[in-house]
Amino acid sequence: MSAAPQLSVVIPVFNEEPNLPALFARLYPVLDGLGRAYEVIFTNDGSADRSFELLKAQHAARPDVTRVIDFNANYGQHMAVMAAFERVRGAVVVTLDADLQNPPEEIPKLLARTDAGFDCGGGRRLDRQGSFCRRQASRLINAVRRQTTNIEMTDQGCMLRAYSRGVVDAIVRSGATHTFIPALAYSFASRPTEVDVRHEERHAGVSNYSLYKLIRLNFDLITSFSLAPLEYFTMFALGCSGLSLLLVLVLAYRRIFLGAEAEGIFTLFGILFFLLSVAMVGIGLIGEYVGRTYQVVRSRQRYFVREILETQE
Ligand code: UDP
Ligand code: MG
Repeated sequence: MSAAPQLSVVIPVFNEEPNLPALFARLYPVLDGLGRAYEVIFTNDGSADRSFELLKAQHAARPDVTRVIDFNANYGQHMAVMAAFERVRGAVVVTLDADLQNPPEEIPKLLARTDAGFDCGGGRRLDRQGSFCRRQASRLINAVRRQTTNIEMTDQGCMLRAYSRGVVDAIVRSGATHTFIPALAYSFASRPTEVDVRHEERHAGVSNYSLYKLIRLNFDLITSFSLAPLEYFTMFALGCSGLSLLLVLVLAYRRIFLGAEAEGIFTLFGILFFLLSVAMVGIGLIGEYVGRTYQVVRSRQRYFVREILETQE
């Protein structure tokens, strides 16, 4: 491997066996054509299929520019990217997905921006693919994020991005656990920019994100960048307390001046159940933050690397 590559390309891989051959076939020619020293770092995020074998073969074929990090289990896309970030050598770092939804041919566009002095170049997906529901959900979460954090970006879901080494090092130093790399990068960038990039259908297979995983991921996004959910909840709970107090006063008035009553008991149940559910949501919300705090305090390693394939300098 040449002493210090100028460019590091980081790709998380989780069960992408059918996509990898096409990815290699399209990615390497683009990078070879750039005329700058580069390295590609794949993180195998505990794939259950033959992805790792394919990565191994690719490393054997292009040992000078290919590095493979092998996790022992599935730690999620953002941890996979983080592991690669800890080991990058390039001055500029580009991330992209392994499923070819981010065309490798768009990489030069991003590099043009980092060359121009921007330290964080985010892709903005033109004609975004994916189901209607996912696109709408994505818009909703974008809006929530804009409200609750002061991170300004158009398309947080796009992983085709370029970062300067300074931003990447700051991300690594932050030691973030449950995180969302593009958002974290934004919080460290001083000159961010956005570029329109094409977005393609997944080359093969289906998304690795189930609805559950997507909800978890977006919870990570909001909770790791703001306390807004807790604050909103406190406000809401205050409102509820005010209304409850009013109700108690009304009932006390009726009890004293109109006498005891047994009617309206189901209304009371309704109100009671509502308040109970509000309390439960509150406990859950606090739990989310406490759980994350626990994980940080425990400071156990975030992932375990089984093996790294790389050619020593
Ligand atoms: N990925 C990963 N670990 C996971 C889930 C996904 O490394 O637990 C990788 C996956 O291989 C792909 C990228 O993250 O390179 C994006 O995943 P996917 O295409 O499933 O997500 P979507 O495009 O539907 O958001
Ligand atoms: Mg995808």
